[in-house]
Amino acid sequence: MDCLFCRIISGEIPSKKVYEDELCLAFKDINPVAPFHVLMIPKKHIASAAEIVEEDAALIGHIFAEIPKIAEGQSSFRVITNSGKEAGQSVNHLHFHIISGRRLSLELG
Ligand code: 5GP
Ligand code: ZN
Repeated sequence: MDCLFCRIISGEIPSKKVYEDELCLAFKDINPVAPFHVLMIPKKHIASAAEIVEEDAALIGHIFAEIPKIAEGQSSFRVITNSGKEAGQSVNHLHFHIISGRRLSLELG
């Protein structure tokens, strides 16, 4: 499949893994915007948050139960998903940015 993050999941493209299980993978963002910047992705190819359906509920719930464990030790953190080009999405595989380690402004774009 011609998807960058599916290739990272398969190991075809290397990544700095932070966490992995049968449903999801977390790895360091190649271009961090803060001292702590991890991407959490489902192993199932979902193009964006706009493509999430009811049957993904357990998967998305699982991901959100893992995120605080990944961010453990960070006093504060932010979770972001960009859906669509105008919102800043550049990779068409659902991903949650977990960002921390500096003071974050309320600026959204
Ligand atoms: P988006 O712009 O779609 O919200 O986020 C995509 C993120 O993927 C960006 O923060 C970008 O730095 C990251 N990224 C793009 N290509 C790679 C890659 O090959 N490896 C890793 N680890 N991160 C990547
Ligand atoms: Zn994919």
